[in-house]
This record gives sequence, structure tokens and C-alpha cells, in this order.
Amino acid sequence: MKKILIDAHTHTIASGHAYSSLQEMARAAADKGLQALGITEHGPSIPGTCPLLYFKNMFVVPRKMYGVRLLMGCEINILDTQGTLDLDEEYMGRLDLATAGMHANCWKGGSKEENTEGLLRVIRNPRIHIICHPGDGTADLDFEPLVIAAKETHTLLEINNHSLAPERHRNAARENSLELLRLCKRHETPLILGSDAHISFQIADYERLWPLLAETEFPDELIMNYQAKRFYTYLGIPDLQA
Ligand SMILES: [Zn+2]
Ligand SMILES: [Zn+2]
Repeated sequence: MKKILIDAHTHTIASGHAYSSLQEMARAAADKGLQALGITEHGPSIPGTCPLLYFKNMFVVPRKMYGVRLLMGCEINILDTQGTLDLDEEYMGRLDLATAGMHANCWKGGSKEENTEGLLRVIRNPRIHIICHPGDGTADLDFEPLVIAAKETHTLLEINNHSLAPERHRNAARENSLELLRLCKRHETPLILGSDAHISFQIADYERLWPLLAETEFPDELIMNYQAKRFYTYLGIPDLQA
């Protein structure tokens, strides 16, 4: 197994239902040997998340703590089959990392075709870097066109460790994640593993994903968590080390 250098999907107390501070998260990431940590607080439609002012004020946060690069971002909500997002351009322009996903408490879905069309719009949105947990079962989706579009637009699809937790009761998540892995392998589409940590101890914990990667014999070179420089280049994020 190669070394994990990036976890791009985590939450702090600012998300309202997570339990560690930004500094605790950065410290834990440094202890785990990460080079970069994505802090992706929930967008405004999730009850109890941070106010919009949080995203405006992020310039006060040093982008390096304890030797770890912090990518200050948002997990933006996809609201409907039109691909409507719950964060305005004004705020999106301030993010180091823009991720987007569907969440049951604010997602109005349609047919499989309509859901897929909506997500394709988000994949093609040049502001969006990562699609969070497309396989978690919130929306019925046709994965193959998503995998093809993700490759064309340099958007990363995430395979999410948190979605596979037994407490989440997401029966579809395992099968969907396996299908996404098989399709990404076939189309040579890079992807990212996400911990979706809601407490510092969960950073870079991909425990539930290793068996799926083994089962699909998924190639290491398509996993962006191992390759910091390539991650920045692929997503068009300036590399501070450069
Ligand atoms: Zn999420
Ligand atoms: Zn999340």
C-alpha cells in the first residue's frame, strides 16, 4: 500500500455536527504524515452548519499549519436535477477546494436519467473540483457517463469511507462504490478516497475502502491521495511548494 498524502474531505466543529477544531485537525493530519488536508464544511442547506460569513472570512486562516497544507473549502449541496448548488459564485471564488454532493435532507431528486443529467452539470461546472460520495445511494445514478465526464473535465469522483459505515444503513453504498471503481479502472479515470472525517481521529481513515480496492484490483496510479503534485496540477490548484 502506498502512502496517503492527502485527505480532501473533512469537517470541523464549524459544520455543527463534527467534533474537532481546525487546529486539532491540522495537528492530527501532521501526525499522520499528510501533506495536505481539505477542510470542507457543509454548505448552508445543512442544518446547523456555519454561516456564510465563515466562507468570507477564511483569509484569516494560515494555509500551512504544523507543516500541513490546508485547503479551505466547502462541501456544497447539490439541490436538484438541474444541478443547482447552494453556494453562490461570490463564495465559491474564495474557496481553495470546492466539493459538491447530494444530501438527503436537501436533495430533490427525480428519475435516474434526470439525476444523472443534474450531476453531469455539476461535474462540468469549472468551479467544482470533487464530487463527494456519488455512490452513497442518495440518488439513483447511471455511473458510466459520470465517470467519462469526470475524466474529460478533470473532476474527481470520491469513494467515501464514511458512507460505508454500518451506522449509516446505506446498503447501496458498497455495490455502488464497487461499480464506480470498476468503471474508473476501465476508463482510466483518476479518483479520490475521502474519509469524510467528523473528528480528528478519522482523518485519512480509509479502512472500509481497502477491501473494495483489493476486490477490484484498482490501480494505485489512479488514486490521487498518493500524489500531491499531480492532485494540484490535475485540479488546477496552485502548488504552494512550487
Ligand atoms: Zn456529504
Ligand atoms: Zn462530508
